Amino acid sequence: MRLLAVEDDAIIRKDIQATLEASGFHVETAEDGEDAWFLGDTEDFDLVVLDLGLPGMDGLSVLKRWRANGREMPVLVLTARGAWHERVEGIEAGADDYLPKPFRMEELVARARALVRRSAGHGAPVQTCGDLAIDTNRMAVSVRGVPVPVTALEYRLLSYLMLHRARIVPPGELLEHLYGDDDAREANALEAILTRLRRKLGAGIIGTRRGFGYFLEAAEESG
Ligand code: CA
Repeated sequence: MRLLAVEDDAIIRKDIQATLEASGFHVETAEDGEDAWFLGDTEDFDLVVLDLGLPGMDGLSVLKRWRANGREMPVLVLTARGAWHERVEGIEAGADDYLPKPFRMEELVARARALVRRSAGHGAPVQTCGDLAIDTNRMAVSVRGVPVPVTALEYRLLSYLMLHRARIVPPGELLEHLYGDDDAREANALEAILTRLRRKLGAGIIGTRRGFGYFLEAAEESG
């Protein structure tokens, strides 16, 4: 899952980044409205956490411009404590959820996960597809009920395929959501992760369609 965190307060920003990275997201950050707007307008994110009080272009304007441009990624806005009008304005501008400051990181994580699931049309915290089950609250993977230990990167890959199980995910898209826009986006790296993951999960879980991409095999069978 690729997430954009927009917050001008460096301490909060780093805290959000560290917490969400530890919770299975690849997190990119922006510290002002212009940067945030540009990133959100040109890159694909599974979720944006957007502080409303930003230097330069404020968060509300950023959000309105994204929505006016047809950018539909889920957005969770961070509002000032007690500022009910910010919550109303945020929702009206197209926010999917809000969290008043100060907040507990646990709540941010829970809301972030719920929003990503909802945006993909899957509400339940435990996602299953054939023999594969992913518990998004515990970041735990199992096959036929047997727990399979996975790395953070493997978890991100698997949960992305799970959320998009209705279709074949092209390698470029998968890389982008695993690493963001870093130099690490290499097809070889992706192949290596998939090989390791397939060894752990066993046959018949992750399918490849040459020239198109990857998919969960049980999703394919059930149509
Ligand atoms: Ca702020």
